[in-house]
Amino acid sequence: MPPNTTPLTMVPAPPNNQPHVLDPEFDLPAWLSNAGQPAWRAKAIYRWLHARRAESFSDMTDLPNDLRLRLEAEMQIWTTDVARHQVAEDGTEKLLLQLHDKQQIECVLLRDGIRRTVCISSQVGCAMGCVFCASGLDGVIRNLTTGEIIEQLLRLTRLLPQDERLSHIVVMGMGEPLANLDRLLPALAVAQNPDGLGISQRRITISTVGLPSAIDRLCHENPGYHLAVSLHAADDLLRTKLVPVNKSIGIDAILAAADRYWETSGRRLTFEYVLLGNLNDSPDNARALARFLGKRAALVNVIPYNAVAGLPWEEPTNASRERFLDVLRNAGVNVQTRRRKGSRIDAACGQLRRLAIQENSVPAESDA
Ligand code: SAH
Repeated sequence: MPPNTTPLTMVPAPPNNQPHVLDPEFDLPAWLSNAGQPAWRAKAIYRWLHARRAESFSDMTDLPNDLRLRLEAEMQIWTTDVARHQVAEDGTEKLLLQLHDKQQIECVLLRDGIRRTVCISSQVGCAMGCVFCASGLDGVIRNLTTGEIIEQLLRLTRLLPQDERLSHIVVMGMGEPLANLDRLLPALAVAQNPDGLGISQRRITISTVGLPSAIDRLCHENPGYHLAVSLHAADDLLRTKLVPVNKSIGIDAILAAADRYWETSGRRLTFEYVLLGNLNDSPDNARALARFLGKRAALVNVIPYNAVAGLPWEEPTNASRERFLDVLRNAGVNVQTRRRKGSRIDAACGQLRRLAIQENSVPAESDA
């Protein structure tokens, strides 16, 4: 029995109760047959939505007019609204999407050379409680549906010019993806469909706080994804301080599960390490990390902390970051440091949603 088969909360049907074509469980061929249309038109509609970037049914110009009108009357494409769209000077774009139950999630398009990477959310909020992360400050509200995960991909693709395609997906937005595998995996399968986005599995990264049983499940069911484990500390004392859920798991169990994943997938593991000033950024911390990784052919992705308003943590200085990286490199660790992309648009997970929640909760009289 796979873990996490129970939704956190039931998601109510969209208010107008119309079928949602982006939901893979909706049987579009059957609907077409009932409407007296050939079932194969489902593929044309799919291609319009996933590859040809139609915004509405009226864009689907090769469908018969009566079918388009009927689709418009009885069906909906989008269940989200774009509540905010921010563009940074480096080309990073961020969408704050409002879901049908008024919850909000974030997703980001990153432009890096020829890469067009999207960063998507898997849950509203997060239950993991990492003390420096904006996503989990109010806990988890609910899992995203498969359709809502797909919708982020399709909304972001539409920000690209017609001659550009998405190349990579990272599931590093709000939420813990391995706590919502039942809905995430079908969405990622859709992303790979050659009739749609056609993104190769090797270009999809799932980032996890490190849930050993869910890593094992992924390993059995679908080991083709690139796995990134958010480590942030090489000893349990410090990690539990930063990532409270670590208390009941422990890094040894995480490393063992990551090793099993590596043995099965053959794909190099990535460990993410958010560098927090004066907390986990000392040369001693770096040496402990190098010892902990041992001879593993893993990549360490060092991410400078992006300050979250209201939280007491510090960004690392350039000097401490360089020192940290030097220690790792000298110890033979494969290391990369994520260039800061879109930090001006609060691109770290959960920051934009939090800002919107705070702005909406400001009492009217303080607006003056
Ligand atoms: N739950 C998953 C996905 C979270 S987001 C996980 O833990 O991996 C992806 C990465 O961004 C994680 O490593 C997370 O710790 C990191 N992160 C969260 N808030 C951040 C911030 N304010 N600055 C820098 N990195 C942050």
